[in-house]
Amino acid sequence: MLALSLWLKAFSLNYKMHKLEHIGIAVKSLSHSIPLFESLLNTNCYKKEEVESEGVITAFFSLGDQKIELLESTDPNGIIEKFIKKRGEGVHHIAFTVNDIEAEMKRLTEAGFVLLNDKPRPGADNKLVCFLHPAKTNSVLIELCMEKP
Ligand code: ZN
Repeated sequence: MLALSLWLKAFSLNYKMHKLEHIGIAVKSLSHSIPLFESLLNTNCYKKEEVESEGVITAFFSLGDQKIELLESTDPNGIIEKFIKKRGEGVHHIAFTVNDIEAEMKRLTEAGFVLLNDKPRPGADNKLVCFLHPAKTNSVLIELCMEKP
């Protein structure tokens, strides 16, 4: 019985969001905001990467186990451009690491959350990602991310 409950615990732990991975911040200009965040955080931007499918260029800063991701739009009709037009620069999303993104997407759908993509898609920093509709999460855009296998 104990073995079974331990196994069930390990099994369910495998599926949950287990750590804050990064906070995504929408910015108008990386050439302005990278030096700003380097000065603020006292650390260098370690990676700049374009994600064509999302219409963004990202810049990452490492803070221990967590990261800050700056996002600049490359697409006048893209999500970041629209966000900035509507709400200005600022916190855009919060990302959690998951071990099994498809299982977590299934769990969240069954729990009544709405996914913005039905399949994991390639994100920045070697991740597979999926976003949750903010209407169901207190207006906070949530990103699930998993290291690409
Ligand atoms: Zn992100």
